[in-house]
Amino acid sequence: MDTNRWYWYEGSKMGTTGETPLRYAIIGAGMSGIMAGAKLLKRGDSDFVVFEKGAEIGGTWRDNRYPGLTCDTPSHTYSYSFALNPEWSAYYATGPEIHAYFKRVADESGVMPHVRFNNEVRACVFDDATAKWHLTLSDGSTYDADIVIAASGVLHNPKVPELPGLESFAGKAFHSARWDDDALLDGARVGVIGCGSTGIQLVNALSSRASRLVHFQRSPQWIMPVVQFEYTAEQRAAFAANPQLIEDIRTNAEYWDAVYRFTEGVTDFTSPQMQEIEDICRRNLEDNVHDPVLCEKLRPNYHAACKRLIYSWEYYECVQRPGVFVETGGIERIEPAGVRMNDGTLHELDTLILATGFDASRFIRPAVVSGRDGRLLDDFWEERPRAHYAVSMPGFPNLFMLNGPGAPVGNFPLIDIAERQWDYIEQVIAPLRKGEGRTVEPTAEAFDAYEERRIAAARKTIFGSGCTSWYLDKTGIPATWPWGYHDFAKAMESPVTSEFVVSA
Ligand code: NAP
Repeated sequence: MDTNRWYWYEGSKMGTTGETPLRYAIIGAGMSGIMAGAKLLKRGDSDFVVFEKGAEIGGTWRDNRYPGLTCDTPSHTYSYSFALNPEWSAYYATGPEIHAYFKRVADESGVMPHVRFNNEVRACVFDDATAKWHLTLSDGSTYDADIVIAASGVLHNPKVPELPGLESFAGKAFHSARWDDDALLDGARVGVIGCGSTGIQLVNALSSRASRLVHFQRSPQWIMPVVQFEYTAEQRAAFAANPQLIEDIRTNAEYWDAVYRFTEGVTDFTSPQMQEIEDICRRNLEDNVHDPVLCEKLRPNYHAACKRLIYSWEYYECVQRPGVFVETGGIERIEPAGVRMNDGTLHELDTLILATGFDASRFIRPAVVSGRDGRLLDDFWEERPRAHYAVSMPGFPNLFMLNGPGAPVGNFPLIDIAERQWDYIEQVIAPLRKGEGRTVEPTAEAFDAYEERRIAAARKTIFGSGCTSWYLDKTGIPATWPWGYHDFAKAMESPVTSEFVVSA
């Protein structure tokens, strides 16, 4: 076997002979957009454009370049099922490596020539007469498509906190997703605000570089201990020679049992699975943080997994290094010299990094989306972003979202989520490919019933058990998939035909 060939090349195109030709617009060339393009090409559909607002592919893996960036989902599971990568250097891969992987897949799958860079979708208007979506791009051009795939991601609008005096800071202050390569780090006094997955990874990386590192934590996080290890050259050669070895990792029963236990546990925060997770996190804290004062500072006051769990093999070690300090007091203001706390303490800093997260309610917006009869997405989402099984919406025919509102999020591979959603979309649009109609959308009745069930279930999940996080919508209801992973997989396997209406 040619060891340079990826698993990608296995299998054959199904072909589209005899089908009604459809034109697609894919919004976003991140993980989901590349997947959608690659899947279209694989089946023989090449009439599509991927609109990308940036100058490069990769979405979140392009935007995030902070030191220590790692994916806390195992590398072989954070890979497309059709493009296994024998070259992953470690069990958990780094950001640059993942970005390179997406670039390579986009190239080798043939998606790259379909990407129109520096082209933000400004408006998406459905024309009832032609049953086509009319897109207007930031360069003034337009594009008409039968099907729109919104693969614009969730976490791409940085949330910069309104800290008084922020603009007065004398050093460099910037959001973690807008990395400033000129910032002083080595031997410098650095502050990191925020202790989500980003802030924790940043502190891990900077703890051995900064002369003084202050980690500002408004709400300390639970840390799930995990083991990181590198793959040897021999292992990588074996993966290349035999993709089954990779499949064995991807389907590892122990890994998936943990995912299932977790996703089934979150649906009931009093469940034994959740208690077990909290016990592991508590032991991790108490066994590894030796100073009792620091241990209490780092102890969260809410249930483990209420916020997305931090998976780390090194945070407690790094945060106890000399020169690293945890600050859990309230920030009063930012001054030219540093961060002034409510108790009067001034942390003098050269660099201030805002690992303060993202506005997760934007999705395809700020693009103006206007559906059937001029119905605006902004109005449909006035209360909260919502979609039928997280994918489609009544009144917005032929518009589908990947990793859209209400999709599963957590400590598992979102690539798998997107691929399953793609399989669902393919089934929903099958009647259009067969020429049985020009549009398909969920019925309002089916959607309302679904959303009612989703909200009722979401209220009972661990995410709604008394903490703040980007998982909550503005009314405080968890915006995530509220059932188990198996339920999601089953729902994506076979859309309920009667829940959709196909129109001429
Ligand atoms: P995040 O989880 O939303 O965390 C933001 C942090 O900033 C929180 O600690 C928050 O405190 C703090 N914060 C926000 N505003 C603040 C203010 N005004 N003053 C003080 N603190 C403030 O954001 P993130 O760490 O960027 O992660 C977002 C998501 O990205 C993750 O949940 C994950 O899905 C994804 N991610 C994944 C990986 C990975 O390895 N797979 C890595 C990085 C990110 P409060 O909790 O008190 O609000």
